[in-house]
Amino acid sequence: MDQRSNYLPDKARTELTMRDMQRLSQTHPTLADIVCTAFRTSPIAFTITETLRTEARQLQLVREKKSLTMHSYHLKQDDGYSHAVDIAVLRLRGSTPTPEVTWFFEDYEEINRHVQAAASDRNARITWGGAWPTLRDGPHFQIEL
Ligand SMILES: [Zn+2]
Repeated sequence: MDQRSNYLPDKARTELTMRDMQRLSQTHPTLADIVCTAFRTSPIAFTITETLRTEARQLQLVREKKSLTMHSYHLKQDDGYSHAVDIAVLRLRGSTPTPEVTWFFEDYEEINRHVQAAASDRNARITWGGAWPTLRDGPHFQIEL
């Protein structure tokens, strides 16, 4: 299994992609803004894997025991947005020019520190899934309104 030290310390990507931005456009604007700021300030790059989720997909995740609730913040809320974002860390390895998705928990902890700092600047409250005692979910962030 890969060690975190097998990867380079460089930020694997310096900007979010068009696809990331398209996904963020389906999430609450304050949360989207916080995630964009955290991407800029964090020394670790990431991509946006999921924001808005259909009821059918949520039901499937609950059946697969990958989610515990049918009240997920990823479902469309009353304001028309998802109130949750999932990310995946991107790291560079050796001479491989293409960033790879990695799941080292410490990386998500680090990104959470940047998310919380950006949230605090905006008087917003963000819950990090990595702090949940059951089904710890490092890639997940949600806004509490
Ligand atoms: Zn999530």
